[in-house]
Amino acid sequence: MNPKIWLSSPHMGGKEQVFVKEAFDTNWIAPLGPHVDGFENDLCQFTGAKSAAALSSGTAALHLALILCGVKAGDEVICQSFTFSASANPIVYQGATPVFVDSERDTWNMSPEHLRNAIKDRVKKGKKPKAIIPVHLYGMPAKMVEIAAIADDFEIPVIEDAAEAIGSTIDEKPCGSFGKMGILSFNGNKIITTSGGGALIADNNDYIVKARFLATQARDAAPHYQHSHIGYNYRMSNVCAAIGRGQMEVLTERIQQRRNNFNYYIQHLSGIEGVTFLKEPNGFFSNRWLTAILIDSTKTNGITRENVRLALEAENIESRPLWKPMHMQPVFAGAPFYGDETSAQLFENGLCLPSGSNLSTTDLDRVIQVIKAILK
Ligand SMILES: *Cc1c(COP(=O)(O)O)cnc(C)c1O
Repeated sequence: MNPKIWLSSPHMGGKEQVFVKEAFDTNWIAPLGPHVDGFENDLCQFTGAKSAAALSSGTAALHLALILCGVKAGDEVICQSFTFSASANPIVYQGATPVFVDSERDTWNMSPEHLRNAIKDRVKKGKKPKAIIPVHLYGMPAKMVEIAAIADDFEIPVIEDAAEAIGSTIDEKPCGSFGKMGILSFNGNKIITTSGGGALIADNNDYIVKARFLATQARDAAPHYQHSHIGYNYRMSNVCAAIGRGQMEVLTERIQQRRNNFNYYIQHLSGIEGVTFLKEPNGFFSNRWLTAILIDSTKTNGITRENVRLALEAENIESRPLWKPMHMQPVFAGAPFYGDETSAQLFENGLCLPSGSNLSTTDLDRVIQVIKAILK
């Protein structure tokens, strides 16, 4: 059996252990510590955000962002339907209801048109949404200029789920910087990892100060433990942040490597009838976290996305269907949805290919060969 090719595995740069050793040598294992401060500074530098809080996960960052937007039980929050469940779960943690909005074809992300319709209809029903969560899936920026304009019209805050999109930009403006707040993830399969972790970023430092307070059990300023808010244990540890500092040194290189994967796939697969790729709209720059293809089985003699996935699996190659939209998930049955069949069709026909920055040309060639063989 050939060695396993993973969809997206951790890729250390080399300096991580130096930072981790420093944490051990100073016995600054947990909690917080100088590497957390350093990592937050690195994140601000890279994303252009004025302030950042390093947290235990991207999900935790989203949860805190919703709290900071005042989302409470019985409220409604608009969320992109085509995403990973972590974008929507924190809405439910708050006792609020997600209202799902479909994607458009240019970016596979939130459709500004469906967004406007959704807001109008919710307002008409007497419930103005408390926040909007667009997502930059697979690293491709959502149409943030249009989305932000609609959000401004209705004065609804935007929380950008940039978990998959660190380093992606629109006209050089980083993803995560268009909304009131942005969230990042450093989970094991993301473009850089802290083994597990996330961050909340914002230009308004007040949000970040409050997020840090809530993330450390909401302790009031008193020598005894006094609390006037419900708190959370959501901070990143100094050891995880040490890994993050090493990863930040290679982030630009990692983005280039992921983009090279995309270019290699497109070069070798775009000639196949029925196979298409997501192009960057003008001015959009994607970190190409994952390369995905769409397979139109009406043009491939009936070969479907699932046939291709199974052929890859038989060769010990991991691939994955695009995210199953939230409005199609059993757990969110009954949640309002505004859209058409766009995300359902993307789910039906789309496949994420191995995209790690540590893949060799030999690995990529193995993937390409299997796909060419089944779609010949
Ligand atoms: C990974 C991911 C998250 C959650 O991040 P964690 O750090 O795993 O909690 C949220 N949204 C999207 C779109 C993601 O891909």
